[in-house]
Amino acid sequence: MYDQNHLISRLHAASAGYETRNFATFPARASVTFGELFAGAERNAAALVAMGVQPGDRVAVQVKKTIEAIQLYLGTVMAGGVFLPLNTAYTTAEIAYFLGDATPRVVVCDPEREDAIREIAGDAKLVTLDAKGYGSLTDSVVGRGGFTPVAREADDLAAILYTSGTTGRSKGAMLSHHNLASNSATLKDYWQFTDQDVLIHALPIFHTHGLFVATNVALFAGARVVFLPGFDADAILDAMPNATALMGVPTFYTRLLADDRLTRDRAANMRLFISGSAPLLVDTHEQWEARTGHRILERYGMTETNMSTSNPYDGDRRAGTVGFPLPGVEARIMADGAEVGTDEIGVLEVRGSNVFKGYWQMPEKTAEELRPDGWFITGDMAKRDADGYVTIVGREKDLVITGGFNVYPKEIESLIDDVLGVLESAVIGVPHPDFGEAVVAIVVAENNGLSIDQIKSALDGQLAKFKQPKQIILLPELPRNTMGKVQKKALRETYSTLFSDG
Ligand code: AMP
Repeated sequence: MYDQNHLISRLHAASAGYETRNFATFPARASVTFGELFAGAERNAAALVAMGVQPGDRVAVQVKKTIEAIQLYLGTVMAGGVFLPLNTAYTTAEIAYFLGDATPRVVVCDPEREDAIREIAGDAKLVTLDAKGYGSLTDSVVGRGGFTPVAREADDLAAILYTSGTTGRSKGAMLSHHNLASNSATLKDYWQFTDQDVLIHALPIFHTHGLFVATNVALFAGARVVFLPGFDADAILDAMPNATALMGVPTFYTRLLADDRLTRDRAANMRLFISGSAPLLVDTHEQWEARTGHRILERYGMTETNMSTSNPYDGDRRAGTVGFPLPGVEARIMADGAEVGTDEIGVLEVRGSNVFKGYWQMPEKTAEELRPDGWFITGDMAKRDADGYVTIVGREKDLVITGGFNVYPKEIESLIDDVLGVLESAVIGVPHPDFGEAVVAIVVAENNGLSIDQIKSALDGQLAKFKQPKQIILLPELPRNTMGKVQKKALRETYSTLFSDG
């Protein structure tokens, strides 16, 4: 009865016969079987249709992470709707933009925000869902019967995810049923997920990493999931002896390394640690291997493309690289309209069934980034070595142009990170009266013993003069968002007047 709906039928078929098997556990809640998961999704779908959701309608959701929220995601897709998750950190003013842009039929929010969101929800039906899975949505879901998923084709939209909006307004990336299904199926095979796996899921579910990579891959494998409301070192370390896989952002790994309870013994049952969404430091990779005996598998992707590259499961997982294009994904590195040579830096473009359908109601933006022949211009600077491993060098807009020369922050960051006593660094360009932009390094020390002169002398002789930071600033930590990405935009703003006369 599920076969008319492309994504749902594929997700559901993967766990056929598993109705009474556990899919997920959640702290202080009863576990949920595969059968209950899909039955709950059907009830959600029925409730959404009763609220007026028609095929193609958006369902905007800003809620905490619960199993009910996962059922709402599946139920939206079953109802033929388009799931639109929103970061729980967004303010009411930010939400107003998304609701105005996406004009959803239904808005689901936390009861705590109901009054504020009601003011901006317009004609949308507003319902609530709290951190325990209760709210007015639950009231209209409970007691509903089975639901036959609405027919949806491979090319129909399943989700819109707004990009983090580091430049200009946030854009809604339109993802089709096939985008999501094909990528999850590829990842399940590439990373060898099976129904024997137990995945620790501590990522947020408003982002591609936690919602699609982690949740869909587990569903495609018929794997079990330990759902945690968020990153919690105690809970992750508790789960590890009985789990097999963890998907995380780099900060998960640095935070776990800071805990003495992370040992080889504790990680003995694990078969795979995956990192992505932000660059994993080589140092973290090495420390992790020394401590646990596991080499973290780093992959690369973005909201618009799902996952594009990954280090191999069986082959050499090379620290500092994001591996090879996934099966079915083409990648090329371009500069001045042509592909660059080995080890040369250019802008990474990708093509394949992973690539989104364009930006919601922004045909000009779509045309700027998605070529008519299907190549998507990622905006990430990258290089590929002779063995085919891709390395991400940073965002194109983070490139610093000083005195007419291009400086790639990653090159300088890598050298600074190698200086004894440095934990990590972020190199940015800030306005400078002579050079246009000046290179500035923000450095986090491992302890109090590090001086700026030590960093300067370590860079001397290693870097051309124009690449050397005009100023080095020590900070206790780098600003990061919930996905662990360093907020260079915030740093550029903070230090924008460093070299100005005023
Ligand atoms: P988002 O759309 O929020 O998932 O952000 C995607 C961006 O995160 C990419 O364009 C990259 O700049 C960055 N990113 C994701 N994975 C990696 C990785 N493994 N290494 C470096 N950067 C990454």
